[in-house]
Amino acid sequence: MNNMVNVVLLGAPGAGKGTQAEQIMRRYGIPQISTGEIFRRNIREGTPLGTAAKAYLDAGGLVPDELTVNLVKDRLAEPDCAKGFILDGFPRNIPQAEALDSLLTSLGQKLGAVVSISITDAEIVGRLSGRRVCRGCGKTYHIQYNPSAVEGLCDNCGGEVVQRDDDREATVLQRLAVYHAQTAPLLDFYRKAGVLLEITSHEKVEDTSAEMVSALAKVFGQGESDGPSGSGA
Ligand code: AMP
Repeated sequence: MNNMVNVVLLGAPGAGKGTQAEQIMRRYGIPQISTGEIFRRNIREGTPLGTAAKAYLDAGGLVPDELTVNLVKDRLAEPDCAKGFILDGFPRNIPQAEALDSLLTSLGQKLGAVVSISITDAEIVGRLSGRRVCRGCGKTYHIQYNPSAVEGLCDNCGGEVVQRDDDREATVLQRLAVYHAQTAPLLDFYRKAGVLLEITSHEKVEDTSAEMVSALAKVFGQGESDGPSGSGA
C-alpha cells in the first residue's frame, strides 16, 4: 500500500526543519510542503488566506486548525505529491495529526516516517536570532552556520535575504511555548504509531543531514542522490 515517501518533519522552531526538508526533497524527488511558508507567501501577496492568517503569525500563535487542514488537503491533492511529500510544520497539534491520518486513509495512503529533530531551548534562541530568509523564494539561511554566498542575497533566486518578523525574541518565546504545549505531545502520538525517527539537531547542518539520511534510508531506501539502490518500499 505504501511505496510512497510520505514524511512529516517535527521539531521546535529553529531545529532546522526547513533546511533538512530540502535535503529530503532532493534525495527522494518529492515536494516540501511548509505550512508556515505557504502562510507567509499568502501574507506577502495579500490573499484572503494571508489576511486571515496574519494576526496569528504576528503573535506567534497557531492559525486555526480548520484553515490549516484545508490548506494541506488541497496541497496534497496536487500532482507533484504523486510520489510522496514532506510536511514541514504540519501537523502542529494532536487534532491536526488526527486530521492528517484521516486524510491519508481517505487517499489510501499512510505516513512512512515522522522525523523528530531535537534541540534545546537555549540553542533555539541563539539560532533564530541568526536565521535569515529569502523574501523571494523562502529559502532559509543562518548568518553563521549556513550563510548565503553573497551576504543579503539569495543563492537560489537573487532575492533579498532578511530576518523573519516572527524570529524576533518576544515572538520566538511565544512560539516556543506553543511548541511545548501543543506540538511536543505529537512525539508520543507518533512513537505509539511506530513511525517516529528521532535525530539530534547538530550545529553543523551536514551532521544533522547525515543522521537523518541514514534514519530515512532504513525506511525508504537511499533515494536517488546516493548510489544505485533507488527508493525502497
Ligand atoms: P513555521 O514557518 O513552521 O515556523 O510557521 C510560522 C507560523 O505559521 C507559525 O508560528 C504559525 O503561526 C503558522 N503555522 C505554520 N504551520 C502551522 C500549522 N500547522 N498550524 C497552525 N499554524 C501554523
